[in-house]
Amino acid sequence: MRFDSVLVVDWSAAGTPAPKRPSKDAIWLGLTRQGHAQAPIYCRTRVEAEARIIAIIAEERAAGRRLLAGFDFPFGYPKGVARQITGSDDPFALWDWLAARITDDASGHNNRFDVAQEMNAAFPGPGPFWGKTHKDRWPGIPYRKEGITFDVTPEKRACDIAAKAASSCYQLCYSPTVGSQILMGLPMLSRLRQMQGVAVWPFERHEQAPTVLAEIWPGLIEPAVKTAAEEDIRDAAQVRLLSLALARLSPEALGPMMNDLPEAAKEEAWILGAGHADRLTALAQDAPKPPPLRDDCFSLPAGVDWTPVDAALGALKAALRPVVSAEACALPDALGRVLAAPVIARRASPPAANSAVDGYGFAHAALPEGDPVLPLIEGRAAAGVPYAGQVPPGAAIRILTGAALPEGVDTVVLEEDVRVANGQVAFRAGIKPRANARRAGEDMAARSEALPEGRILTPADLALAASVGVGHVQAYRRLRVAVISTGDELCEAGEDAAHGQIYDANRPMLLALIAQMGLGAVDMGRIPDDRAALRAAMDSAAARADVILTSGGASAGDEDHVSALLTEAGAMNKWRIALKPGRPLALGLWNGAPVFGLPGNPVAALVCTLIFARPAFGLLAGAGWHVPQGFEIPAAFEKRKKAGRREYLRARIREGRAEVFASEGSGRVSGLSWAEGLVELPDGAVHVQPGDPVRYIPYASFGFQGAD
Ligand code: AMP
Ligand code: MG
Repeated sequence: MRFDSVLVVDWSAAGTPAPKRPSKDAIWLGLTRQGHAQAPIYCRTRVEAEARIIAIIAEERAAGRRLLAGFDFPFGYPKGVARQITGSDDPFALWDWLAARITDDASGHNNRFDVAQEMNAAFPGPGPFWGKTHKDRWPGIPYRKEGITFDVTPEKRACDIAAKAASSCYQLCYSPTVGSQILMGLPMLSRLRQMQGVAVWPFERHEQAPTVLAEIWPGLIEPAVKTAAEEDIRDAAQVRLLSLALARLSPEALGPMMNDLPEAAKEEAWILGAGHADRLTALAQDAPKPPPLRDDCFSLPAGVDWTPVDAALGALKAALRPVVSAEACALPDALGRVLAAPVIARRASPPAANSAVDGYGFAHAALPEGDPVLPLIEGRAAAGVPYAGQVPPGAAIRILTGAALPEGVDTVVLEEDVRVANGQVAFRAGIKPRANARRAGEDMAARSEALPEGRILTPADLALAASVGVGHVQAYRRLRVAVISTGDELCEAGEDAAHGQIYDANRPMLLALIAQMGLGAVDMGRIPDDRAALRAAMDSAAARADVILTSGGASAGDEDHVSALLTEAGAMNKWRIALKPGRPLALGLWNGAPVFGLPGNPVAALVCTLIFARPAFGLLAGAGWHVPQGFEIPAAFEKRKKAGRREYLRARIREGRAEVFASEGSGRVSGLSWAEGLVELPDGAVHVQPGDPVRYIPYASFGFQGAD
């Protein structure tokens, strides 16, 4: 028992259209397709919903996906009702009886109470249908339940008792009620049943049916709905999570749920999954947030005084993993997002063999010796307007770029290479078989992996996903990075600076850099050198973001509160990295959020961010570890350096050679701006002479779109 898609419909008996803005108590549709829950669909009226449902059934059918469509109202009444009203035990007789009587329109206006009154007339005594919106109308419907005896049929179905459902199908008003929804729902089901390939569970054989309609009940997964992360509106969460849970059921679990039913189900129907609430609830839980990082994740090998850059990078790479959960993301919102699951082609691209040019198509095998002159048949094949007939061997047909090759055509001659006269097309001999024809699936085969997990989606990736019919991807939530500047001396650019103050240069740079990396930047402002203020800022940053990036206060001085706080939290590691400009880098966890404590000097802050924080962010965001791409280029400068630490110089390329900024001072922001990349000098001693090859890494390789 397998389904590729699961639709869950939360039906409504409302007498007026639901508000324009998505709201509760309307009709909601939840669709999970090939394991991915789509964003819930909001419908304002039953008429609109029925059209959407029909479209979904048709679309899934056309795409070859087997669909389970669940509806949250009883498919049958308690034993005896169908016979009392229609004279037959066949539940479909009652569906059709209702379909012939119930009226409904785009404003929601309907006659359900009149029809319920007619049904009551078939039973002796008051009821069984009760409850109404106007006390004085429909005299055949009791206002309250008192006095109804339920002797012709029981009040509840066997499955309502098994599922501990609170409501009765005879109750037409006052919550919780499903009575009116059945009256307004069964006529729709009666119509859906007429569609080709549709079978109704459990009344009909459904093993082979492309579309199976089934009764479902969101109450089965209530605990999961309570903790749903994505929607504010309960009904939306219900349909999404129940469709996800049903889609996640293994065929081995679903089989018995559909097949092992009590006798009563034949007439009364059954709630799919009744008696298996725990299992469905577990499957309906949103993907949990990954577990927090371990406190010791930033520890470096003991006994090392100065850690070489590569060892520090290796330690980070080993310690970190994604900290964000995954969610369904519509293609238009997916640029720059990280794939949490591969994109699988829903169909081949191109879906059918087609022409790569405007020209004339024919069967190559039937070409005569010498220069061919072929009779042209009537009609043509164009993109989106295929030629339905067959092209006989030895004949040709007009064909345009992108048109599916008609039957009998495997080769196309370019229109520039032919002469057309008297209903014939003439061209030179020598055209190769299948020339100018694109094979079906030559770009992508159906069900092949179009994009791998961890991919950061580019505009071209969106084109690829769209070309294979994928409209939603599973993406990691965007990693949020909080930025805090620390230091009593800092003030905001644009403000008047008091004596001794400097402008905060790091924060605008780091916020912009994070945005350019495609991450979510959270601005936490400037914090003075005050332990309590910094603690409050870190608490709030850990609550609002996944990672914290601070600058300043990372050393061991009196005013170095970042390192002091992390030490106090017991999750601090000071990394003394053999790097210039750099040191000290304070790494730790604050309320579970990784903290990158950068040095305050803007040059060191930028270099440490590009070299250490950026690949670490890639891992935390689910995108994996990225090594920036550099290349060798002749130096335009001379420089002598001692062994012991790696050095990064602010650099740019002019006339094919790498120039470096005149001053190496690590407070010189102008040099950062002047530069277009970094020159990396190795850990050992070197004496670079003009013309010697040096390694240059453009800013862009770090995801930093500097000028170049
Ligand atoms: P610290 O790491 O706090 O000892 O700061 C080192 C140097 O960087 C000091 O000269 C600070 O004034 C300077 N500095 C710290 N934070 C910033 C900032 N956000 N913008 C510009 N300079 C800063
Ligand atoms: Mg400071």
